[in-house]
Amino acid sequence: ATPTALLVGTGRGAQLGILIRGPEVLESTRRVDTVVLDKTGTVTTGVMSLVDVVAAPGEEVDDVRRLAAAVEAASGHPVARAVVAGSAAPLPPVTDFTSLEGLGVEGVVEGRAVVVGRPRLLAERGVDLPAALLAAVEAAEAAGRTAVVAAWDGRARGVLVVADTVKDGAAEAVASLRGLGLRPMLLTGDHARAARAVADEVGIEAGPDGAGVVAEVLPAEKLAAVRRLQQQGHVVAMVGDGVNDAAALAQADLGIALGTGTDVAIQAADLTLVRGDLRLAADAVRLSRRTLATIR
Ligand code: ADP
Ligand code: MG
Repeated sequence: ATPTALLVGTGRGAQLGILIRGPEVLESTRRVDTVVLDKTGTVTTGVMSLVDVVAAPGEEVDDVRRLAAAVEAASGHPVARAVVAGSAAPLPPVTDFTSLEGLGVEGVVEGRAVVVGRPRLLAERGVDLPAALLAAVEAAEAAGRTAVVAAWDGRARGVLVVADTVKDGAAEAVASLRGLGLRPMLLTGDHARAARAVADEVGIEAGPDGAGVVAEVLPAEKLAAVRRLQQQGHVVAMVGDGVNDAAALAQADLGIALGTGTDVAIQAADLTLVRGDLRLAADAVRLSRRTLATIR
């Protein structure tokens, strides 16, 4: 390959809003056959809103909202931002805060040990969900929403339901990727039904083995999911925005970060899509094919 053509390609990329780490990246871009898309913040806007708060029998909705928001105020996660935005300030301070990546958060508020997170996290802590809360979680998930449970002092006190929206252009991006002969997949830490709802909206089918959508993966498992595809012989591009995507972006044959994402993701990636527009991922593949075609 002549460096000149590759440099012209990277320059053209910059004009399009695709920042390419080095000219050699165009070569791996050309070979990609599978594109793994993170859900939250990549396919969806990641700007979630709090749409419902359900209290367990004997609990107050306002307490659930306030104590959950107080702990979430220390987290930057999209779920956390929705819970905080949906609560009236000022919030009581939190101490002993811990973020459990891909699971939830915990901390002490007003002398209570509060945990907010996935139902799975609460189950791991030995906290049972009363029937009313379980029904609220299931109803929210069936509607494609994300439900987190708030518990304190060892008891589940309520459920907070948040909703996300698919980005403009996401369905078009998926169609373009497929048009280029690539297989799009969705990868998320969220539950399977929320993943399915988003996949349906953007046109990602479950494969014959249901492999088009991989849900409920912990951040460390995202990397393993990419590696598994590579072991099956695929050349994998991973598109992500979060801290929890960084390891998978580095593992992928081509890591694509969104410019709207976290610095850790951008540093781990080979390409950055400056406007956070997924359609640029397809443009990048097209650009690399065209650039390399002029060389060969
Ligand atoms: P994604 O892969 O879609 O970007 P994450 O791995 O960041 O999702 O999170 C997976 C799930 O963990 C979320 O859907 C949510 O249920 C839960 N979770 C993560 N962070 C928090 C938080 N700060 N508060 C409550 N729940 C959280
Ligand atoms: Mg994300």
